[in-house]
Amino acid sequence: MSWLHISPDSDFSLQNLPFGIFHTGDAQPRAGMAIGGHIVDLVAAAEAGLFGKRRFFKKIFTQATLNDFIALGKPVTNRIRRKVREWLEQPTTPENALQLLVDRQTAIMLMPIRVPNYTDFYSSIEHATNVGKMFRPDNPLLPNWRWMPIGYHGRASSIVVSGTPIRRPKGQILVPGGQPDTPIFGPSRQLDFELELAFVIGKESTLGEPITAENAEEHIFGLVLFNDWSARDIQRWEYVPLGPFLGKNFGSSISPWIVPLEALKPYRVKGPKQTPPPLDYLKTRGLKNLDISLSVTLTSSNDSVPTLVSRSNTKYLYWNMAQQLAHHTVNGCNVQVGDLLASGTISGPTPDSYGSMLELTWGGRNPITLNDGTTRPFLQDGDVLTMHAWAGEEGEKVGFGSVEGEVLGAIE
Ligand code: MN
Repeated sequence: MSWLHISPDSDFSLQNLPFGIFHTGDAQPRAGMAIGGHIVDLVAAAEAGLFGKRRFFKKIFTQATLNDFIALGKPVTNRIRRKVREWLEQPTTPENALQLLVDRQTAIMLMPIRVPNYTDFYSSIEHATNVGKMFRPDNPLLPNWRWMPIGYHGRASSIVVSGTPIRRPKGQILVPGGQPDTPIFGPSRQLDFELELAFVIGKESTLGEPITAENAEEHIFGLVLFNDWSARDIQRWEYVPLGPFLGKNFGSSISPWIVPLEALKPYRVKGPKQTPPPLDYLKTRGLKNLDISLSVTLTSSNDSVPTLVSRSNTKYLYWNMAQQLAHHTVNGCNVQVGDLLASGTISGPTPDSYGSMLELTWGGRNPITLNDGTTRPFLQDGDVLTMHAWAGEEGEKVGFGSVEGEVLGAIE
């Protein structure tokens, strides 16, 4: 219980306390922690002496990103959460309440981290099978898929925070009825989203030294929602033999609040049975998956009512985060603080739980009907795509808020 009113349906309960970077119109970025409809201003909290070492923490929390703070390590980052929670759980309203709290409505959220490197996995067996069926009907799930978390190196420079519009990319595409194997150049006609969760590296590793599956979670600071925007027509033509490139790297969006791994502890679950059994370096024990509900809504530019287009859950993921990180580093590849490792599209077993338009409309063949009666094989200019993620029940929800982006028309 807190002296502060926290709405029971808020994503940001006392159990959550995620970190972000915000400003309030003064263009002075600062670190904050979301609680209900408010933000605890961590610069003000440091100045008030909540954490000791006032000057040190004031400096850390006035950085434009959380990287330096995260790099202090879990003992420090968890202590900060504990101190804020104690402050919120005092029996009466503290005198400095007004000084430390910011109305979340008045805050502008910024990129919470500088992302040195970004990797995207492909860890949902439902998604990999669905895409495989469309791209390679005779051979949907390739033989390596059940042996390793398949991934590729993405582009860190184009990762943006929720609310940033995404411009429809142009590129080489094969059009129906065109010459065989002869592309045209133009705006993508198959712009898509990918429903993903990404984890943030909190502890660097040394080049040449693998992170074991057992130690992997020491290196994971927290998680964000992740929309890996994709242009399917560009992707289909370019992806053989070296994998995704311009169909993917024009933009990915993240939610502004990083939910610490520790806040998700009550929502750990067992993952799906893995067959064949993973090789030794990929073996994990205990509850390594997370039960996080996911939803996707689409709002067209001439309607304010969002249409629910998908509901999924992270518990369906075949490969867990510890396995992803162990695999990523098994050859000696190192990770850096702020690196983002995304799950890959999180599709569930039923058609209403698919995590991309590609699957929901089955390659555009069965368009989605929105509330306003219009249909979508893929995303249209002006569409606003919003993802939500949350664990737990009302009153103690550990939610991610949302990641949202509007599709802008291609450059002329
Ligand atoms: Mn992806």
